[in-house]
Amino acid sequence: MKALVLTEYKKLEYTDVPDPEIGPDEVLIRVKSCGICGSDVHGYDGSTGRRRPPVIMGHEASGIIERIGESVKGWQPGDRVTFDSTIYCNECESCRRGYVNLCSNRKVVGVSCEDYRQDGAFAEYIALPAHILYRIPDNVSFDQAAMIEPLSVAFHAANMAPHPLGASAAVVGTGKIGMLLIQTLRMYGFGTIIAIKHSENQKDIIMQSGADHCICTANENAAEIVSNLTAGQGVDYVFEAAGNEKTINLCIEICKRNGHIILVGNSSPNVTLPLQAIVTKQLHLCGSCASSGEYPACLDAIARKLVNVDLLIGTRAPLSEGLVLFDKLYNNHDNNLKMILNP
Ligand SMILES: [Zn+2]
Ligand SMILES: [Zn+2]
Repeated sequence: MKALVLTEYKKLEYTDVPDPEIGPDEVLIRVKSCGICGSDVHGYDGSTGRRRPPVIMGHEASGIIERIGESVKGWQPGDRVTFDSTIYCNECESCRRGYVNLCSNRKVVGVSCEDYRQDGAFAEYIALPAHILYRIPDNVSFDQAAMIEPLSVAFHAANMAPHPLGASAAVVGTGKIGMLLIQTLRMYGFGTIIAIKHSENQKDIIMQSGADHCICTANENAAEIVSNLTAGQGVDYVFEAAGNEKTINLCIEICKRNGHIILVGNSSPNVTLPLQAIVTKQLHLCGSCASSGEYPACLDAIARKLVNVDLLIGTRAPLSEGLVLFDKLYNNHDNNLKMILNP
């Protein structure tokens, strides 16, 4: 089959590789769409250490079942499917408690790190265990289904908010996850939603996503504006989708006393936190990792048009043009729209 292989850091090759073999509990999927994730772009140059060559990246995908293993039940060749980007074991303590995102034996599709190598979906075919598959509703396209993975991250974060109805929220960082979060919070019944980002670009998409205000920190004082918009109280919930020291400190500053900060972004491994502000404002800081079981709700929300993932889809291209797209993404960090490859 043809695949886009990371043969060395910063070097992708569109080349022939052997077709994947399937085990008794696995299915072979003919990939139709696979989104390029920020983590693929960051992994591409070796900076994260999570895409060690050689590897086929790609974990936001959809396709058609080609073949099923002998023990697989409930699936047939021809079924339209998407899949969880986490391969969880269903047996460890976390899995048994329903936290499959925290599985002790988790492997992420399209990742190769110190412990494992799991080829991804920038290829014509991918082999995956049947228990991570989800059926795509008829009125959801393969490209839309490839957006499920990032949407599920937004749903999971929104699920961390105990009382969303009418509550005020800020989303700090408006990459794809941040933009999907804004749509998700709007759907959840939040009240005022304030988007906070660095530059002015894509403000229109952010407002279309359901934000009431969009503050650009490059030329505006976010803390002051949020204070004015909330009668000096701050917002009930802050969703952090950037993951660096500056943005996390801003979250703490704009959060209401006894408010919640849900941390999704994690580009910096370590940050310094203002301990006294956290304690004296009695803030609830909480991490949100990937997703655990939100896929059906995401597929349903797309099918019912409660969220519009098309708003975020930018370029579509054949897999053979993957090299060009990666190069573009790598050299232009301002382009926030999703690029999708169609093998
Ligand atoms: Zn991703
Ligand atoms: Zn597990």
